[in-house]
Amino acid sequence: MLRSLLLSASRNEKLQQLASEAAPARALVDRFVAGERTEDAVRATSDLVGSGRLVTIDRLGEDTTDRAQAEATRDAYLVLLHALSAAGLAASAEVSVKLSAVGQALPGDGEKIALEFARDICAKAAEVGTTVTLDMEDHTTTDLTLGALRDLRADFPWVGGVLQAYLRRTEADCRDLAGAGSRIRLCKGAYREPENVAYQDRAEVDKAYVRCAKILIQGDGYPMFATHDPRLVDIVEALAIRNDRAPSSFEYQMLYGVRTDEQLRLAAEGNRMRVYVPYGDEWYGYLVRRLAERPANLTLLARALTSK
Ligand code: FAD
Repeated sequence: MLRSLLLSASRNEKLQQLASEAAPARALVDRFVAGERTEDAVRATSDLVGSGRLVTIDRLGEDTTDRAQAEATRDAYLVLLHALSAAGLAASAEVSVKLSAVGQALPGDGEKIALEFARDICAKAAEVGTTVTLDMEDHTTTDLTLGALRDLRADFPWVGGVLQAYLRRTEADCRDLAGAGSRIRLCKGAYREPENVAYQDRAEVDKAYVRCAKILIQGDGYPMFATHDPRLVDIVEALAIRNDRAPSSFEYQMLYGVRTDEQLRLAAEGNRMRVYVPYGDEWYGYLVRRLAERPANLTLLARALTSK
């Protein structure tokens, strides 16, 4: 019920207009989105890097409905990578790309278009000396996204992928992707998924996260632990010590505007702490869809607004 209400709100132009003008909505956007322009993303990155954190930047825009829109998103990433390089930030900031934003869902040759545009972004990232991570979306795209990751890694071995602990398949995917050279972000998963493919119970998801974290940390790759969950952060810290993992051989990741004090604590203790920074003018759908995909995120947003 709540989900369908939020989903219809995410596509309602009048609500979008109202939200753009309402002060509380602006405050929410300002807290979770770096801004609308490339300069805003670069400024936020510069601040984060200045405080000892690393960054991955997401250009907002998942509902790509035609090739021109996919191309515009690709171009925005190219401009962003150029700007990061010009600002001397490319060593500390990479980009996160949703294949849907570069055309994956387009009818016909969407998959091909997305791979071509993702390749262009990777080539630019290589030129400026940074990396790319492919975000993971709903389970209907998991195989396609992992296939694209494999293809891209043939030319750009540093391309990172994301695995979602709530999917029942993910332990097996972690084993496949825990080898030398791989960069895997482990998150709980943000989409509403059916029972046959995903654990529904939060405790089950947390247990799966720990099993997956063990596989990744015992492997030879570079794991990226994306969670705000204090219990999971503690467990990852303990697993890293038990497995003699140097702080430089893995990283923590959190979202822009969420648990800032904890981000700073982890960075100050010598850990690699990367912040996921969304920017762009399509923030309305992004924020509302986040809430709709997983109502638990309502609590996360409420907590973030009342805490630092
Ligand atoms: P939750 O279960 O949401 O929260 C667990 C606990 O964390 C809470 O009970 C609370 O104790 C604590 N907590 C959370 N927020 C706060 C706060 N503001 N203040 C104090 N305590 C707090 N999902 C995808 O499906 N695909 C992706 O590609 C993807 N990429 C991501 C990248 C990054 C860097 C991050 C951080 C998340 C990403 N996600 C992605 C989203 C992810 O899957 C989860 O939906 C989201 O992170 C919430 O899960 P959580 O692990 O933080 O735990």
